[in-house]
Amino acid sequence: MTDIERNSLAELLFPNITATREEIESKYPERTLTEGAKVTRFAPSPTGFMHVGNLESAFLDYIFAKQSNGVFYLRLEDTDQERYVEGASSLVKESLETFSIIPTEGAFAGGAYGPYIQSERKEIYQTYIKDLIKQGLAYPCFMTKEELQEIREGQELRKEAIGIYGHYAVDRDLSLEEIKAHLEKNDDYVIRIRSNGDLNKQVVLHDLIKGDITLPENIIDEVIMKKDGLPTYHFAHVIDDHLMHTTVVIRGDEWIPSYPKHLQFCQMLGFKMWKYAHYAPLTKKENGNTRKLSKRKDPEFSVSYYKEAGIPSEGVKLFLSTIINTNFEEWYLQNPDKSYLDFPFSFKKMPTGGTLFDTEKLNNICRTYFSRLKAQTIYEDSLKYYEEYDPDFFQVMTKNKDRLISFLDIERSGKRPRKDIATYNDVKLESLYMFDEYFYKDKEDTYKEISRNVDTDILTKYMAIYDENDTNDEWYTKIQNLAIENNYAPSTKEYKANPENYKGHIGDICEQVRHAITGKKETPNLYNILKILGKEEVTRRIQFFIS
Ligand code: GLU
Repeated sequence: MTDIERNSLAELLFPNITATREEIESKYPERTLTEGAKVTRFAPSPTGFMHVGNLESAFLDYIFAKQSNGVFYLRLEDTDQERYVEGASSLVKESLETFSIIPTEGAFAGGAYGPYIQSERKEIYQTYIKDLIKQGLAYPCFMTKEELQEIREGQELRKEAIGIYGHYAVDRDLSLEEIKAHLEKNDDYVIRIRSNGDLNKQVVLHDLIKGDITLPENIIDEVIMKKDGLPTYHFAHVIDDHLMHTTVVIRGDEWIPSYPKHLQFCQMLGFKMWKYAHYAPLTKKENGNTRKLSKRKDPEFSVSYYKEAGIPSEGVKLFLSTIINTNFEEWYLQNPDKSYLDFPFSFKKMPTGGTLFDTEKLNNICRTYFSRLKAQTIYEDSLKYYEEYDPDFFQVMTKNKDRLISFLDIERSGKRPRKDIATYNDVKLESLYMFDEYFYKDKEDTYKEISRNVDTDILTKYMAIYDENDTNDEWYTKIQNLAIENNYAPSTKEYKANPENYKGHIGDICEQVRHAITGKKETPNLYNILKILGKEEVTRRIQFFIS
């Protein structure tokens, strides 16, 4: 085709596109940022499901932008209208809000580089496509589904590269007249890039996480515009990240094979390319094999799981931090006053292969997280959780605010703070016995953990000496005396030396009191619990137990 024919083809296909590339570019000026600032974007397709891999992606975008004083923006990639699900963008918004991973620019926040929803950018993509047509770098392809299918089957049979290239690209050189004839018949068409790639040549992706990866050049005449006029992911990605001035594209490593296409598009469009960081998928061990996390098999794959399960969003982010950089965990344990944002995250230290999603580790890091919070904060955060998920306990919490906070405050300071709480659910599970509403509710349940013979005599004697105003030391000395008077060893050490001389040791007395008062084998410091419950309640429970 001559220049004139290509121009008329471009007008024929895109009569409504009047803007020029230059006009569009002028609306997207370079960003004014400090040296080294990263511009990242979270670019989900609103499909109605957010998985923990998406969350990891958003978290990476967030921390790398934040730590470099850059920009983290949100773009909704909704060009695949068949996959579009009503309400899916609200799910993206809510999920990001739940985890406080808030983009400062983009689909919900607005900004100077929008629109940030791809379906609203149709004219922009078409302007570039029109320009490629004029240059002879793209062309309309009228091949039918059946023709494409037949080619594919032949290629599979002959073990050739799959796609439209070389002699398979039959519409590459249609004349203007032939194209007009198709258009007059209203034949469906897509726009393909006229690939200049050579299968024998290679390109190198300098990946920030995985290092250099060599890949064959793209030889396929890739579809850049679908028959509905919207671009494919590949084309929209290149246009948007160019115009929005992304500096690092952080995305899942399933996109690595597409890199040669993206590079080729950039070159054809004359764009300077950004950097890429491709992260490995989250995996799980199953019957000795490693597999990717799955929507069907793993509830924890869904982002909505965490909120419902009462797992704090900060805990999830700490866990993701351990996945992102393996040296994070040690740092976190050594820096009790710091936030993950103080940690020097680096792409270089990210795992290059699949990363194990270890729920035990998630649990542990959440325990550490809770162990560093003030009792008041745990109270307030869990109150929000119970308001939504357990109105009964919410009432109890509200009614017994001071009691619960005092309980949560036991053994909170000091070198080894208690670690009995990993989720908001644990706040209830660990504190139930502090509330009469629950303590007396299922009488059998309350004491079901008690499996040894009970010395009711010692409990009666204990009540006789119990004074709620005793200090911790006074309290302990009294129990020691009680032990000696009743043939219990005053220390475990003494008991171990001559077990035959004693009925038991001081620990057994404490244990019996604990059983009677709480119905549990293990609790935080008993003295504090007695103090919080108060004399009246302690007496009532011991009598209840004896009877
Ligand atoms: N919309 C793509 C996806 O959800 C985004 C990939 C990318 O970040 O470029 O998989």
